Amino acid sequence: MVKHFDVIVVGAGLAGSAAALTMSRSGLNVCLIERATAPGEKNVTGGVLYGKVLDDLIPDWQNKAPIERWIVKNGIGIVTSKSLTLFQFETEDFYNPPYNSCTINRANFDLWLAQQAEEAGATLVTNTLVEDLIFKDGYVKGVKTQRPDGELEADIVICADGVNSLLAQKAGLRQKDIAPHEVGIGIKEVWLLPIEKINERFGLEDNQGSAYEFIGTFLNGVHGGAFLYTNKKTLSLGIVVNLGSLQKAAVQPSMLLEEFKGQPQIQKFIEGGTLVEYSAHMVPEIGLEMVPKLYGNGVMVAGDAAGFVVTNGFTFEGMNYALASGKAAGHTAVHAIKNGDVSAKALAAYKDKINESFIGKNLETYRKVYHVLGNPRLRKEYPQIIEEIAKDLFLFDGKPRPKLAKMVKSITGKKVAMWQVIRDGFDIWRYM
Ligand SMILES: Cc1cc2nc3c(=O)[nH]c(=O)nc-3n(C[C@H](O)[C@H](O)[C@H](O)COP(=O)(O)OP(=O)(O)OC[C@H]3O[C@@H](n4cnc5c(N)ncnc54)[C@H](O)[C@@H]3O)c2cc1C
Repeated sequence: MVKHFDVIVVGAGLAGSAAALTMSRSGLNVCLIERATAPGEKNVTGGVLYGKVLDDLIPDWQNKAPIERWIVKNGIGIVTSKSLTLFQFETEDFYNPPYNSCTINRANFDLWLAQQAEEAGATLVTNTLVEDLIFKDGYVKGVKTQRPDGELEADIVICADGVNSLLAQKAGLRQKDIAPHEVGIGIKEVWLLPIEKINERFGLEDNQGSAYEFIGTFLNGVHGGAFLYTNKKTLSLGIVVNLGSLQKAAVQPSMLLEEFKGQPQIQKFIEGGTLVEYSAHMVPEIGLEMVPKLYGNGVMVAGDAAGFVVTNGFTFEGMNYALASGKAAGHTAVHAIKNGDVSAKALAAYKDKINESFIGKNLETYRKVYHVLGNPRLRKEYPQIIEEIAKDLFLFDGKPRPKLAKMVKSITGKKVAMWQVIRDGFDIWRYM
């Protein structure tokens, strides 16, 4: 006999586990299916989590979750082959409850979150790939797994299967394959270093952490950026580059990562460390333009599978969006099942929840940022201009100093026409 659940969630990433936990807490019979041997095993992230979205799900999560460090320093670095210009914000305020953000290790964090769902009553099935959906009378009615006799029925299926969600496509929610310009490819390395060295190099104490994002000439004009985050005993270092831009430039992402690591100002952070992990993963990049239809008869899509990643040039966030959308899908399912109506009309409440939350609002606010950040001058001319201005600002060569405005005008004008600078500045002002 085919087993029946109220809801099946595909993917025990953050979106899937948050959905499963929400629904199990409300008494639904939930099955959470993960293709990896353990939740978190196949997940890649830079690692900065804005955890506030967990507050109502696991009220004491700050003391229970496997956290690496609490971020007290956020920075943007502009890198050239000879220099690093760092804009940094540092505050002890972020080191006190309720905290602002932390670094996490996905293998630990995802496993822990899935266990919370299990403890609340969800059935976690690992090592099982969902290959297809079961349809009946125009409704999604369950899933087909790769196991022999592996069909499972449910009143609702939540697709939380990550960026390239084949299930969202099979459900008819996404019409086309993902296009290269819609996604980024992220490559991440983890470097092991003694805790004292990490604290000394980044100016940290105890389990304080720092998170830096970088752009610069190392990208060879390719649309993307790099990151360097501190964990307890390791550093997470990597790049995320747009796949379409990468194809046009005909370069390998690994070459760009090598270039980034090779910059003397970056090298010194990882010097003496041991490379202990290397991973790569795709990530949604263009926000609102790639968000599919979010619901249908008996089906919803959450997290990266729904394209819910937002960057505004200063932060790169997907994990809090995954958690929040998983929760929203979970609440919608609870309501629908209790009312005995799982039609698209009933599940449309999920879209309203998304639109009213920070997810929908931020997707709308930053809908053009992807295009602004795609400007190749941000990765070639402007880092060089910033380097020259900074040099002139801090250099003393015995000559009288020009005024800042004169300095900026003469350096900028040599590399980029002034009208172009004003236009780029206007775009940044308008959209970021
Ligand atoms: C290099 C990189 C750096 C990033 N840095 C950050 C950061 O610092 N902060 C941040 O907030 N976000 C960051 N992100 C984005 C963030 O990682 C994602 O937004 C987040 O992981 C999305 O979670 P999710 O649960 O939706 O999807 P995922 O984490 O991708 O989980 C999907 C799960 O579904 C499983 N699955 C897939 N298909 C099937 C199937 N058919 N059957 C069964 N199981 C299946 C997968 O194994 C996986 O466990 C980064 C991403 C990358 C790639």
